[in-house]
Amino acid sequence: MKKIIALIMTLVLCSAVLLSCGSAADKQSVDAIKKRGELVVYTNAEFAPFEYLADGKPVGVDMDIAKAIADEIGVELKIENVKFDTIISSVQSGKASLGAAGITVTDERKESVDFSISYTTSTQYVILPEDATYENITDLKGMKIGVQLGTTGDFIISDEVNGYKDDDGKDVKGLLQDTGATVTTYNNANLAAEALKSGKIQAVVIDKLPAELIVKNSTAKLKAVELVYEDGSNTAESYAICVAKGNKTLLEVVNKVVQKLLDEGKIDEYIVKHSTDALA
Ligand code: GLN
Repeated sequence: MKKIIALIMTLVLCSAVLLSCGSAADKQSVDAIKKRGELVVYTNAEFAPFEYLADGKPVGVDMDIAKAIADEIGVELKIENVKFDTIISSVQSGKASLGAAGITVTDERKESVDFSISYTTSTQYVILPEDATYENITDLKGMKIGVQLGTTGDFIISDEVNGYKDDDGKDVKGLLQDTGATVTTYNNANLAAEALKSGKIQAVVIDKLPAELIVKNSTAKLKAVELVYEDGSNTAESYAICVAKGNKTLLEVVNKVVQKLLDEGKIDEYIVKHSTDALA
């Protein structure tokens, strides 16, 4: 009898936990979003033209896409401005409906979240003092390099400075390893740029359009050049919106909206508009 009571209690407890938690995909399904009347997008508004603050409010290419998704579902758009390196985990746990922050699709991130179709591409860029000599990544030897924490620029430069393991688990020496080069991580691109202007670091590695805007908006004499390897290849990346793993209903709407915006040339329009609007 005691055993049966214990079993019943365990079952009751388990179902209570399941009911209260639910999966992240369920919490952020299109039906759940409709019921709450709000689509919650997480971003980091320090990445113009994709997201930046205008009159204290996050705006930009990603926010225009997010608004089109909210409109398609017929709910309000709620934007949370958070640190970039917390966005994926908040989408994964179901706190956020989606992540829209110039997020590059990577195999590692695909293990935590599902990605929409890509809405644009990018490559890494290096911001340097205007008079610095630069041809390719090996010119960063010995430099103090600033990156944005948890970004692809961070992963690429940290690997080259510290060394890494290849797909077979073999140690590979980084191109900047043992050259005196160091990596400093910042919470956003603007903080890294400030450190460069004040001479704390000598280069910043971030995505192309944000790098170009930082240079255009700077009174200090800076240049933005593509991060290329000695053979001339670059770090081709694709941006996409992310949703919780298995959130099929939301992913379907996101893909439909992104495809429509691409077909109508709207994404290019948003990029041109915000590249101008974000000029200082
Ligand atoms: N595209 C880069 C990444 O996904 C940087 C994004 C960002 O800083 N907002 O890591």
